[in-house]
Amino acid sequence: MPELPEVETVARQLDPLAGRQLIRGVEILDPLLGFSEEERLRGRRISRVRRIGKEVVFQLEDPKGKAAELLLAVHLRMTGRLIYQGETDGSDRGDKYLRAVLELEQGKVRFHDMRRFGTMKLYESEAEAQPAGAEPLDRGFNAASIGELIRGSSMEIKVWLLRQDRICGIGNIYASEILHDCGIDPFRPASSLNDAELGLLAASTKKILRKAIKHCGTTFSDFQNANGEVGGYQKYLRVYQHSGEGCRHCGTEILRAVQAQRSTFWCPACQR
Ligand SMILES: [Zn+2]
Repeated sequence: MPELPEVETVARQLDPLAGRQLIRGVEILDPLLGFSEEERLRGRRISRVRRIGKEVVFQLEDPKGKAAELLLAVHLRMTGRLIYQGETDGSDRGDKYLRAVLELEQGKVRFHDMRRFGTMKLYESEAEAQPAGAEPLDRGFNAASIGELIRGSSMEIKVWLLRQDRICGIGNIYASEILHDCGIDPFRPASSLNDAELGLLAASTKKILRKAIKHCGTTFSDFQNANGEVGGYQKYLRVYQHSGEGCRHCGTEILRAVQAQRSTFWCPACQR
């Protein structure tokens, strides 16, 4: 499942390719998408492609420049991909997982999704597109804000980090990596973290997510970026899927356990 860095990667790659192009048409190939607002998209220009929460958002200008922007949001869920195809890149025929196509002036954006859990919808305003959870890369995301979100939660910190209604975009891979980076034991109750630890947690969250974005995300099952390539962050993972190996900091064996049905990887010596 793509986490924040993978979604950010797709948006950053699509922006220079699809940004500033006019939408000539929209083809919905999968009725399961339940999207029927093709007409509202036609003739609008993409001002920008960006990430909001865990969605890739196409900001669309009004053709007459009068009405407000419209936002087309794609959630990739498990296996969704948004791939830019230039005019000379061949046809879509034979791609049975193709669910929708945005036809642009000079190319196409193809929404390919094997398991069909991805979604496509319109937002009327940026406010409407905002997710419930806090944006971890916001300037204001710090020890105080994370402390406020955690307040009173007895949930184990690793499990808490996955709560999308608290912080948006941290999934199973980065939750383990973040906790290893700041030296916090994944089994600690969230509310047991002191101010210094909350500060370390906020800083590691930003550091790990930014580094993963820099390397275009992590590919585990079948994430591909907008150019149809895999991410490069897997070689920087310190604990995730490294159980049985020595910790890079201290050499202690990395352990694996299951918390809330998800694997957790950690170093019992570095993480307290
Ligand atoms: Zn260690």
